[in-house]
Formats: sequence, C-alpha cells, structure tokens
Amino acid sequence: MQTVDVLVVGAGLAGLHTARLLARRGLDVMVADRRRSLSAGIRTTGIFVRRTLDDFDLPDELLGPGIRDVLLYPPSRRSPVRLTSDRDEYRVADMAAVYEHARRAAESAGARVLLGVRYDGMSAGLVRFVGAEPVTARFVVGADGARSRVARDLGLDVNRRLLVGAEIVHPIAPGTTAPAFHCVLDPRVAPGYLGWVIDDGWHAHVGVAGYPGAMRTGIRHLLDAFAQDAPGRSAPTGPVERRGGPIPVGGVLRRLACPAGLLVGDAAGAVSPLTAGGLDPCLRMSELAAAVAADYLRTGDARVLSRYDGRALRARFRGRLLLRRVFAGIRSPAAAEAAVTALRGRAGRTLAARILFGDGSFPDVGPRLAGPVRSA
Ligand SMILES: Cc1cc2nc3c(=O)[nH]c(=O)nc-3n(C[C@H](O)[C@H](O)[C@H](O)COP(=O)(O)OP(=O)(O)OC[C@H]3O[C@@H](n4cnc5c(N)ncnc54)[C@H](O)[C@@H]3O)c2cc1C
Repeated sequence: MQTVDVLVVGAGLAGLHTARLLARRGLDVMVADRRRSLSAGIRTTGIFVRRTLDDFDLPDELLGPGIRDVLLYPPSRRSPVRLTSDRDEYRVADMAAVYEHARRAAESAGARVLLGVRYDGMSAGLVRFVGAEPVTARFVVGADGARSRVARDLGLDVNRRLLVGAEIVHPIAPGTTAPAFHCVLDPRVAPGYLGWVIDDGWHAHVGVAGYPGAMRTGIRHLLDAFAQDAPGRSAPTGPVERRGGPIPVGGVLRRLACPAGLLVGDAAGAVSPLTAGGLDPCLRMSELAAAVAADYLRTGDARVLSRYDGRALRARFRGRLLLRRVFAGIRSPAAAEAAVTALRGRAGRTLAARILFGDGSFPDVGPRLAGPVRSA
C-alpha cells in the first residue's frame, strides 16, 4: 500500500495550486480527481479579475483580451447602465489550458496527479478510491468542490447556501464585437443573481445563475430562453460547450481544518458571496492552507491549524453577506427595474463600480488569519 504525506482530492484550481505549494515544500503529494481529462467537465466561466492577474502568475497566452466595459440591464433590457474602467478589469481564460498549466506546475514541483480516480471515503488515514488502490495519507486536503464529500468525512463544515449556474460558451467571429461584460438583473431568469454575456472579442459566454429553489422550470430551460435574445450575444462560429455547477455563497466556512485534513476552494466556501467569483479566493486561500498544512506536518503541533480558521475571515465578510441578502431579496421584475434605476445615480454608480472594479470582492488572507499561533 502506498503512503503519502498529503492526498489532495480534486484537481480544480484550488487543489492543483495547493498541491504545487505543498510539493514545493518537500512533501510527498498525490492529487486524485474523478475527471478523466482536465478539459472535461469545466464548471467556470473563467473570468479572472485584475487583482488576481496582478497577484498571481498566470501566463498571458492563457488569457483572452482585457475587458473594461460593464453594462447592467434591468429586466426590460432597456437603457443599460454602462460603467467603463480606464484599465483592463477582466480577462477570460482558456480554462482547459489553465488547468493543464496548473497540473504541469504541480507535477514539476513533485506532486503526482491521478485522473479518473474517484475519492470514496476514508477512515483512520486510509483513503479508498474507485479507480485506484487505497492509499494511506498523513493529511487530506479537500479540494473537491462546493458539495465536498471530504468535508463531511473530516467532520468539518459544509456549504449550505448554494446558487447554481450554467452557461454556454463558443467562439465568435474575431473583430466583429467590442469586448464587454453584459449583466442582466432579472429574477425571472436568474433569481438571486444575474444573467450574463461576456464577450472578449474571441469567445462569448452566455449564462445564468440563481437559487435553484426559485428556478421552477429548471436552469437549462432558463439558460436556453435567456440565450435566445440575451443582450450582446453573437452567433457561434464553432462548437458550443455547456458548463455549469453549484456556487457556494454563504461565505468562508468556519471549521476548515482538523488534524486529519483541511479544505480549500469551493469546499471551504471560498467564494465572494456577492459576485460569486471563486477563482481569486481559491488561489489566495490555498497559499495560507499550504503554509499551515506544511507547518503542521513538519512540527506535529495541532495548534498550528488554528491559523487556518474561517471564523477570523468571516468577520471581514459581514458587508458582503449583507449585500448578498439584498441581492437575494430582489424577487420581482419591478424590484429589479428599481434596483437598476438606483444604480443610475452618482451614488449607485460609485457603489456598482466599487463592486465590479474594486479590489475588495474577497478579503486578503492577511496578517490576522496568518498571524501567530493561538492556543487550541
Ligand atoms: C457556471 C459557473 C461560472 C463561474 N464563473 C466564474 C468566473 O468567471 N470567475 C470566478 O472567479 N469564479 C467563477 N465561478 C466560481 C469558480 O469557478 C469556483 O469558485 C472555482 O472554480 C472553484 O475551484 P475549486 O478548485 O475549489 O473547485 P472545482 O473547480 O469545482 O474542482 C473540484 C474538483 O474536485 C473533483 N471532485 C469532486 N468530487 C470528487 C471525488 N469524489 N473524487 C475525486 N475528485 C472529485 C471535481 O472533478 C473537480 O475537478 C463560476 C462557477 C460556476 C458554477
């Protein structure tokens, strides 16, 4: 039977980044993912915000052109509010290439990545799989997404507030459109969130997300109806891919670590409750998770784990969680029209620009969280 220092379950961005950082610290790391290929089953649009592009080293060739314009539409789709930044705010990545890049980085650091291997449970350090022999792991990292099975098995917190999102993505004729992010606030198609078209001049992503309980006709039907006349939509010039999945919006979970393992990415609830963006948080929190896990495995001192404490981070989420409740409360087209009207004024535009172009959608995993070891 194989023994590893760390088993990472899930080869999404959170799992691959954490595996790379742990392997770089000299640990023996194995990553297992049920997907047979990293270009299959993609669950994200792949919009990276400026702050992530500034702070993390994503190769330019994996990213589409910069986007500076956001248009916010009411349910009537008339007279959108246009916000224009003086710098590139968003770039949409080729996610299959991003995962491949992250996998190569993890492997170059010494991690082993196994695909087509489903995590099936653990007891006393012995981890069972479907598709591979069991392994003994000193520590398990749950990077297995919003509905993490590892979180349950470790007895850690699990996500309870989830949106569900779905989109279609396809190439468009280059040079025929102006890059823009079109956001539609309409509770009939996206209850509690938005419908979107993001067009970077190369590809268009058309999607909807919202609370599943309020999507009576089902998300696929809503997406197809929205896509028919979504603002900013261009005709496909190549294959149309479908993506989708759950999005945790309840904020970072409180109990994220125990002596047997910890959680990263969506499994940890590391998603901005307001914008539902999770790519920046999953990279940011993985840095701290890897530092804490490596320290714990080196010293054997369980008090080290208190540095990876979601309670400390949640305190900085209060405003965002409140705004999420406001967002969720927009339940009728009339309320959505009124909300977009409110954004037309100076104060509304400032608030919208702060949310859409500001650096604060997910707080820094700063000194308080990474601070000195507290007594257990
Ligand atoms: C439709 C949609 C669009 C989005 N768009 C954006 C966006 O544009 N920008 C942004 O910042 N955020 C976006 N998000 C959120 C963002 O994509 C996620 O927060 C982020 O990708 C989470 O990464 P992760 O590595 O934690 O999880 P995931 O990428 O979900 O990876 C989890 C991995 O675990 C594997 N796994 C699960 N169970 C098992 C098991 N039992 N055994 C083995 N492997 C397992 C899965 O196969 C998967 O590869 C979007 C989400 C959705 C649903």
